[in-house]
Amino acid sequence: MSMTVQKISDLVLIRKISVKDPSKGFTIRDLVEGYMKDSDDGTTTDSVFGYGGKLNIRPSYQRNSVYNEKKRNAVIETILDECPLNTIYWVDKEDGTYEVLDGQQRILSICKYLAGEFAVSADCFPTDLPQDFPNLQTNMTDIAERVLDYQLDIYVCKGSPSEKLRWFRRINTSGEPLNDQELRNSSYTGAWLSDAKARFSSENGRGVRLTDINPNNNKPEPLLNGSWNRQEYLETALEWAAKHEGFVDKKDGPTAIEQYMLKHRGDADASALWQYFSQVLEWVRSKFVSYNKALKGMDWGAIYEAFQKGDYNSNIIAKSAIEINDKIIELTNDDEVTAPIKGIYQYIIYGDGRYLSIRQFDEKVARAVYEQQHHHCVYCLQEGNQKEYAFKDMHADHIQPWSKGGKTVPENCQMLCRYHNETKGNRW
Ligand SMILES: [Zn+2]
Repeated sequence: MSMTVQKISDLVLIRKISVKDPSKGFTIRDLVEGYMKDSDDGTTTDSVFGYGGKLNIRPSYQRNSVYNEKKRNAVIETILDECPLNTIYWVDKEDGTYEVLDGQQRILSICKYLAGEFAVSADCFPTDLPQDFPNLQTNMTDIAERVLDYQLDIYVCKGSPSEKLRWFRRINTSGEPLNDQELRNSSYTGAWLSDAKARFSSENGRGVRLTDINPNNNKPEPLLNGSWNRQEYLETALEWAAKHEGFVDKKDGPTAIEQYMLKHRGDADASALWQYFSQVLEWVRSKFVSYNKALKGMDWGAIYEAFQKGDYNSNIIAKSAIEINDKIIELTNDDEVTAPIKGIYQYIIYGDGRYLSIRQFDEKVARAVYEQQHHHCVYCLQEGNQKEYAFKDMHADHIQPWSKGGKTVPENCQMLCRYHNETKGNRW
């Protein structure tokens, strides 16, 4: 999908802030009014407000994140040094409220400093000791007043949700760009999404816990890649549920996830999403009783779906957890198997021996057999074809395949032409 990005300067609706007294400018005193200490622990998805409740500092399209200490302190030091901060952008919701488009971390740093949550050092302090804001208010009132009167450079934008997102993409150059799921979350807001985020996008959400901790032993044994904080657990849960309900990505159209979100956005809660997700992960944990990090990030939703349909009935994955575990140990100890543990898991699930990377004959052995066969292919000869092949056009094949107990020893090597190598059944 292509998107036209308008330059900020082309947007007529952007104006410098005049929400307070335009002659005075907008100050930190205005900003922190009504900011609640402890209202933001960085792990919840709740909104955080400032400017007397009129400014939503963390609207739905912003991620929860914890600003690193160094950057956070630098914001406060800049203010104490009376140097300018970069421009902050807000969106005018046109109902008397605003939301932060860009500058969330700077605003939160300011609010948290004024709430006394941390201390910094600055040249304007009489000693090198770090000072928190309540201390300034008690002992260095002039500096405290100067901080409160510090003017922020704020631009306010008005526009539709899609325009806001376009601005965000354009403006948000300092931070990491929003990923697809973060953008989707901005368009499908509501009770259902809030519930989904509570489960999959907050540190103690049930979906996050189930993903990261094995409930059978309480150990950290994560099964998904990415991070809940970047909405990647939510994205995976949505992807699995969407595919389960039969949605597919449409070329140049909505993705399966978007179709799913559109269908469910009006639901009262996300219990259906949770139910399917937990069913998948519980199945995984019931099949693999000993954990290895190679289990993390496999497409468990698709695997579970195919398993339920019976696609893997003749594979090892259909057996009991104990039998599966024994097979994993056996394959791990098999010298003929060179695949890493992930390949072993894939073989257990998908049944394809190529995942095992069975040991290959080394070139010395292959060349010796090539000469013994006088450059002919064993199968071609059987078909009466006497063609001589170049060494590079032949493949060293296991006469007795690995699955029938064949080893990678010279006596078990035969040279085949490319065609017969590829068409030979039971290749591993
Ligand atoms: Zn051949």
